Amino acid sequence: MVGAKEVLLAEPRGFCAGVDRAIEIVERALAKFGAPIYVRHEIVHNTFVVNDLKDKGAIFIEELSEVPPGATLVFSAHGVSKAVQQEAERRGFNIFDATCPLVTKVHVEVAKLAKEGYEFLMIGHKGHPEVEGTMGQLSEGIHLVEDEADVLKVQPRQTEKLAVVTQTTLSVDDAAGIMAAIKARFPLVRQPKQQDICYATQNRQDAVKVLAPQADVVIVVGSPTSSNSNRLRELAARLGTPAYMVDNAGELQEEWFANAARVGLTAGASAPEVLVDEVIARIKQLGAVAVRKMDGIEETIKFPLPKGLKIDAATGLEIEVRKSPETGH
Ligand code: SF4
Repeated sequence: MVGAKEVLLAEPRGFCAGVDRAIEIVERALAKFGAPIYVRHEIVHNTFVVNDLKDKGAIFIEELSEVPPGATLVFSAHGVSKAVQQEAERRGFNIFDATCPLVTKVHVEVAKLAKEGYEFLMIGHKGHPEVEGTMGQLSEGIHLVEDEADVLKVQPRQTEKLAVVTQTTLSVDDAAGIMAAIKARFPLVRQPKQQDICYATQNRQDAVKVLAPQADVVIVVGSPTSSNSNRLRELAARLGTPAYMVDNAGELQEEWFANAARVGLTAGASAPEVLVDEVIARIKQLGAVAVRKMDGIEETIKFPLPKGLKIDAATGLEIEVRKSPETGH
């Protein structure tokens, strides 16, 4: 590396409370019921995490027909549609729901407002499992808008009772622009009481806004499927700093650092810190001599585990064992 002297570490970065909980649910299910444990979709969008759980006995599937009768099934952190939830229950699996509680909050809001007669615009990325899960809370009356052009095209059946919900891992700035376009076209629209973009997404993007202007290049540790990781890379690039996303240290390319005295480093909400450590080690091999943590928000949020997988911290004993399907909702 020519010139690189210092790694600037974004704060906060990496695992959020929803990812922590989802991984713990699979690990505890493996410990309690033994392998294999079936997981619908990647538990979180990170290659390392998924491979690690595969090694421990998790089997990742997309279709419920791939799960044998009586098996234990975990829903991923992104959540599932009502149809998937009902089919899993009908098939009689032992179900644990690792849907992030902040995604479940959006599902609950959709169900509540739908009962009041609302129709929805959902801001999100087509094909993302969280979007499929949230839109699949209703059989009709929820329309996806990916950008401002979609806002001009969308045709709700009525506009008096129209509400907006969003994917939790969007670009805060992009979502604000789309929201402004929605308000311009549908002035009566109901916005989420608290925005649906989650604290972890917001905090990691805020940290990149501090980091990128001080760095000559920004590295984001995250997998290509990770929405929030992609948004971090885009944000740094938009702020004028060359930015690259890598799944692991092996993907770093020496030429990225050729003229970089300061390397900004962050990680998406599904990327474990061990990968950040490996990236730091590689950048040090390439010549960096110091690592400086940026100031930032300290996150203390932690979500409870579903019943049936809780352990009493004092006794180490399981708090409750249930034989019936546990959806966590
Ligand atoms: S990124 Fe946000 S919504 Fe997604 S799992 Fe983490 S806390 Fe939950």
